[in-house]
Amino acid sequence: MKKFETLIIGAGVGGYTAAIRLAQSGKKVAIVEKEKAGGVCLNKGCIPTKALLHAASMYHRAKKQGITRSGIEFKGAVLHIDRLRKWKNSVSDRLSRGLMLLFKEYGIEYINGVAEVEGGIVRIDGETVEYDHLILATGSSPNIPSVFSNLSYWTSYECLEVPEIPENLLVVGGGVIGVELASIYAMFGSKVTIVEVLSDILAFLDRDLRKVKAKELKKLGVRIHTSASFEKYDNGVAIIRKGDGTLIEVQADRILVATGRKPNIELAGALGIDIKDGFVVVKDTYETSKEGIFAIGDLIKGPMLAHRAHRDGIGVAEYIAYGRKPIGNIVPAIVYGDISLVSIGKSEDELIKDGINYRAGVFPLSANGRALTMESSEGFCKILGDPDTGKIFGIHIAGYGVDEMAGEISLAVNSGLTIEYIANTIHAHPTLGEALMEAAENFYRKSIHIPNK
Ligand SMILES: Cc1cc2nc3c(=O)[nH]c(=O)nc-3n(C[C@H](O)[C@H](O)[C@H](O)COP(=O)(O)OP(=O)(O)OC[C@H]3O[C@@H](n4cnc5c(N)ncnc54)[C@H](O)[C@@H]3O)c2cc1C
Repeated sequence: MKKFETLIIGAGVGGYTAAIRLAQSGKKVAIVEKEKAGGVCLNKGCIPTKALLHAASMYHRAKKQGITRSGIEFKGAVLHIDRLRKWKNSVSDRLSRGLMLLFKEYGIEYINGVAEVEGGIVRIDGETVEYDHLILATGSSPNIPSVFSNLSYWTSYECLEVPEIPENLLVVGGGVIGVELASIYAMFGSKVTIVEVLSDILAFLDRDLRKVKAKELKKLGVRIHTSASFEKYDNGVAIIRKGDGTLIEVQADRILVATGRKPNIELAGALGIDIKDGFVVVKDTYETSKEGIFAIGDLIKGPMLAHRAHRDGIGVAEYIAYGRKPIGNIVPAIVYGDISLVSIGKSEDELIKDGINYRAGVFPLSANGRALTMESSEGFCKILGDPDTGKIFGIHIAGYGVDEMAGEISLAVNSGLTIEYIANTIHAHPTLGEALMEAAENFYRKSIHIPNK
């Protein structure tokens, strides 16, 4: 029987971050992974989607635009799908190999194997193991509704392998994963239809962000049916039920099911750990209902995002190593695309619903020099805050390349800075960040480059 000081199950972002921080804190740690180091994010999620998005965006600009406003003419753009796949995989492989080197560097024992639980005992590839601390970081998997049981469909995993560019792609689910993959395939040339059961796609976002994304998708030729659900599929035709009960037919050579993800709770369940609403229940120290067993990342309630899993990994490691309680953080969210959406904190609708008195400072990218030099003036920065104190309630940004502003808004919100700090911070010129500064100035009706109303 093998005994570990700390054993981590799952080498995704949550698990590998915890392993490295524990090792940095002088702890002995082993990590077991049944697939590839890096988990979903590196191999089947964040990284491959962004690689495909980059390629799709270039291809689309070259193919569709023909000649840009800046006078560059593209001729005969061709998509080499085998090369695309190879390149995309090489990016993931490089990052995964880098992780393996880090494990070695830090003396972390990496076990490529399957962890199972039998009679409350953890086994790795059949061998019983013991531990002082166990961290469950088993992540999540695509959630597939039963209506698809007897059908052939893609999940995000197959979709990211780009087996083909289907002529007609039906995307069921208008959440982040569905919308990102819909725009990628639309840019590669598929005729895409999104079906979303809620009254809007990306319903969790501020309404102004949703409007920008809907406009971009429309430009890409993506058809969107909201308040609608998938009924059945036969011979290349899907039947969709609209909110008013009417049925419509949608051509679909392929169906992508992007109806959310469910936590991989099997091991936690077999260990007798408390589970609520499908998520492992944890205290503010990440400890589960069983002493010495912790859970992090997609397995526990909260935004299913890689940077959240990263923060959990650090939090749990520092708690185990030093008994330090994790600091709560507000998590920013991004929907990537040619036009990206970045968001933190409350939306206007949430503030209205909660009866909170707020004011908005807004600055359009059409008045930002850097955006215009990049031939992309679509979008805006919007800051919502307390009119009396300048406390930030929420920041919402849309535009080309704005994803890089997520760090600044997270720093501001999580450091408790007021809107005045953003307004008073020198932002280099010309950058998109100036639009955030001017939205902050507009909050005080003092933006320089727009009339303040
Ligand atoms: C298509 C897609 C795009 C995404 N894009 C983004 C994005 O742009 N930004 C973002 O922040 N988030 C994104 N996400 C979400 C992000 O990938 C997850 O939030 C993140 O991977 C969660 O990390 P984790 O460590 O909790 O779990 P995971 O990354 O799921 O890792 C869990 C690991 O545990 C292993 N495992 C499970 N059970 C066992 C077992 N019994 N034995 C051994 N190993 C086991 C699995 O093989 C896996 O490697 C995306 C997800 C998808 C699907």
